[in-house]
Amino acid sequence: MRLDTKAMRYLTAEDWKTLTAVETGSRNHEVVPTPLIGQISGLRGGVHKSISALAKVGLIARLKNAKYDGYRLTYGGLDYLALNTYRKRKDVYSVGNQIGVGKESDIFVVADEKGVQCVLKIHRLGRISFRTVKANRDYLRNRSSGSWMYMSRLAALKEFTFMTALKENGFPVPEPLAQSRHTIVMSLIDAFPMRQISSVPDPASLYSELISMILRLAQYGLIHGDFNEFNILVKEEPKKEIVYGKETEDLTLIPILIDFPQMVSVDHANAEYYFDRDVNCIKRFFERRFHFTSDAKGPHFSDARKLIGKDGVPRLDVSVEASGFSKKMAKELEAYMKEVGVDGDGDPNASRGDEDSGEEDEDESEEGEEGEDVEEEETAAVSNGADDVGAKSESGVN
Ligand code: ADP
Ligand code: MG
Repeated sequence: MRLDTKAMRYLTAEDWKTLTAVETGSRNHEVVPTPLIGQISGLRGGVHKSISALAKVGLIARLKNAKYDGYRLTYGGLDYLALNTYRKRKDVYSVGNQIGVGKESDIFVVADEKGVQCVLKIHRLGRISFRTVKANRDYLRNRSSGSWMYMSRLAALKEFTFMTALKENGFPVPEPLAQSRHTIVMSLIDAFPMRQISSVPDPASLYSELISMILRLAQYGLIHGDFNEFNILVKEEPKKEIVYGKETEDLTLIPILIDFPQMVSVDHANAEYYFDRDVNCIKRFFERRFHFTSDAKGPHFSDARKLIGKDGVPRLDVSVEASGFSKKMAKELEAYMKEVGVDGDGDPNASRGDEDSGEEDEDESEEGEEGEDVEEEETAAVSNGADDVGAKSESGVN
């Protein structure tokens, strides 16, 4: 889905108040009634002008259920609210190219006021998932917390919390910089995913580094759960060495781990399954791509279990709960991901199909979600189509 920031600079203070009011109202209402938007925004009857301005650029969409007319926030509306928060906090000044399209996320290069480039990851759970959910309607029925908005927020919160804990404990991950709603901002890693690397000078050492990382995660109580060639960025750093009195320059490959919404604790009921899958992903990739097979069997989960808490290291699976990502949240997100078959990005054949019909996906998702007759009246596009995310130009957020 596109991120069209063009309309941002034309929004008035009243428009922002109105957009925020729709967001607040949607905590309790699938369809936020117009009078409630007027009330929350403090604009009362004067809210209509802003409502139509927001609907026109697709930040809110008009809906009708059995009892009343109202509005809901679109993905575009939620994107704008997050960007506005970053703008106010001076985390993000401009939005640049889209560099990644995951199954469940969009990745953009953004810059702060000083021009420092970072990465904005927008979680979009529900984009493809709700199609699958169609067959699973019961799960979402009567569950407002099962909405795309809530789940995408949970995924972002989880990712930010885990990235922070990992970074603090010296793991090679991007630096988490900011979080708002369904999005996070992190440092830009100047590297390619391992998937795009055709050969390496010394596969054995990269392999052992990756296996060590899996084991070190376990030592801290964690399993990545999606440890594959898409989620490992390989950085090349020059390494100066003195060999026989001569200075030589070699390249060191440094793997950086990304993508954390599916991480699990080593105490998870299926921990062994996830652990083995992570290890086998790396084994399989090294065999196929680099024709490298390790002589050593394993490591097995039983080996990893022995390392938990070794050398007095903290259990990050426990500490993340204290820092805001509760067990209940973890359960909700996991149940949802399982239900809709979100299982990382390891399957390159998995369909995305959102490029031309992002808003349609959303419509499917919302329709009938709360078991009432919800009918979309207006389907305002999030983007007017004139803006090319692939374009080099940067558009100001403000
Ligand atoms: P998803 O959950 O959709 O798989 P990821 O977090 O794995 O999202 O990101 C998708 C892609 O975006 C990655 O494979 C990588 O190419 C790119 N990417 C993500 N984060 C960064 C970053 N911090 N620096 C550079 N590239 C990144
Ligand atoms: Mg990924």
